[in-house]
Amino acid sequence: MTITTNMVVQFHYTLKDATGTQMESSSASEPMTYMHGHNSLLPGLEQALDGKNAGDKFSITLEPAQAFGELMPDSELRVPLSQLRGSKKWEPGMQAVIQTPQGHQQVTIVKVGHTMATVDTNHPMAGKTLMFDIEVATVREASAEELSHGHAHGPGGHHH
Ligand code: ZN
Repeated sequence: MTITTNMVVQFHYTLKDATGTQMESSSASEPMTYMHGHNSLLPGLEQALDGKNAGDKFSITLEPAQAFGELMPDSELRVPLSQLRGSKKWEPGMQAVIQTPQGHQQVTIVKVGHTMATVDTNHPMAGKTLMFDIEVATVREASAEELSHGHAHGPGGHHH
């Protein structure tokens, strides 16, 4: 079956940075599962999967703008510790989630004080060129329930 809008796709991936260093891989675990055409993946990745078939293997390189964006200057922010979500104790380098007027945002802890923390609002993968090795595992039609939710259910998909 071919990947088109509303197909549920399972694929394995290995993610490397521009130097070829492996950052993530699904090979030891469940494949990634998503419903095609609903902006569930990085735009460049979803675009590359369009029209592919089960069993296809390919590699793509995404520039920062197609992946997690360019590194923004002036990206550091001071926020009260009480606004950080994801842990009870914070150390530099940890990932946290903060609430902003634009919604939830993932940040990296830079410095921790008694009541305030300095965080970097750049995505940890911002500014990075990403290389993906992809192997399409399965392609199937979405169920009526998945279509009404706009996402995949079952192994690797959403659990309610
Ligand atoms: Zn659902």
